[in-house]
Amino acid sequence: MHTPMFSLEVFPPKRNAPVGTIYDTLDGLEGLNPDFISVTYGHGTHTDRTATARIAHTIRNEYGIPAVAHLTALYSDKAKVDEALDMFEQAGVEAVLALRGDYIEGEETVGVFKHASDLVAYIRERKPELKVFGACYPEGHYQAESLDQDIEYLKVKVDAGVTHLISQLFYDNDDFYRFIDKARAAGIDVPIEAGIMPVRGAKSVRRMAERNASRIPEHLAVILDKWEGNSEALRTAGIAYASQQIADLVAYGVDGIHLYSMNHPASTRRIWHNVQPLFGE
Ligand code: FAD
Repeated sequence: MHTPMFSLEVFPPKRNAPVGTIYDTLDGLEGLNPDFISVTYGHGTHTDRTATARIAHTIRNEYGIPAVAHLTALYSDKAKVDEALDMFEQAGVEAVLALRGDYIEGEETVGVFKHASDLVAYIRERKPELKVFGACYPEGHYQAESLDQDIEYLKVKVDAGVTHLISQLFYDNDDFYRFIDKARAAGIDVPIEAGIMPVRGAKSVRRMAERNASRIPEHLAVILDKWEGNSEALRTAGIAYASQQIADLVAYGVDGIHLYSMNHPASTRRIWHNVQPLFGE
């Protein structure tokens, strides 16, 4: 295990993408030896409920890397969650990242799991041997009234049985440090990994920042403006920005770095190459 931890996130290929693309992604990540790779889960009623388990199985059994399976709750009833948990168990996952998921306009939620904490408590009861991870938001969740209130609910989620937190992306490390101080003061004492999303496209950064209510600091805005029309230059600047964020976080003494690889192994490798000497074995 790395000190601090180092983990990656991948997502199942889109419905119309060739299945093999996930193998290209995983092949491209070979040799990085992260502490785990997590696999996202679709939300809504039309999601392929088997994809996450299948990919987690591949990561665990073909690549020999611990896998973490995400699971969303708003559009699931207990039977669907049970089905997913059984698949995850068979896939040999290390843990389940229990999520509420986002509301989808025009789709009726099931109403069994209203918050991620409900799902956490349910998994603890059904599969006490499975570790349960949770999500957290350094700048506050976009629907929360305030960061302090969001942290109060986060404490409820941790008390329900979460043993490890992974953060939403953020572009200013000071936001993360402020969040850590508040979370620790609130009695949240589980490891908290910092979520880092490398910049690739100016439009997607702005869209995601708006959707997640995350701030684009001035020094990143300058980079986006400068290289918006030059994707290769922006990718290079994004790799440098993420590497700098990670170096600062590791120096600060964070518990771990969770890199949102976005199924782009080349950028992920370049970042890892830059920061690997900072992670002890
Ligand atoms: P919760 O912890 O339930 O929090 C959601 C909101 O409800 C917050 O505003 C919180 O303050 C509030 N709240 C919590 N508990 C209570 C309570 N008891 N009473 C009142 N309010 C409460 N989405 C996907 O669809 N698939 C994925 O694979 C996926 N992976 C993710 C991985 C990470 C690391 C992160 C950070 C997010 C991920 N998401 C994913 C997005 C996530 O589903 C959304 O951010 C969603 O809006 C919130 O999910 P949550 O589990 O954090 O919810």
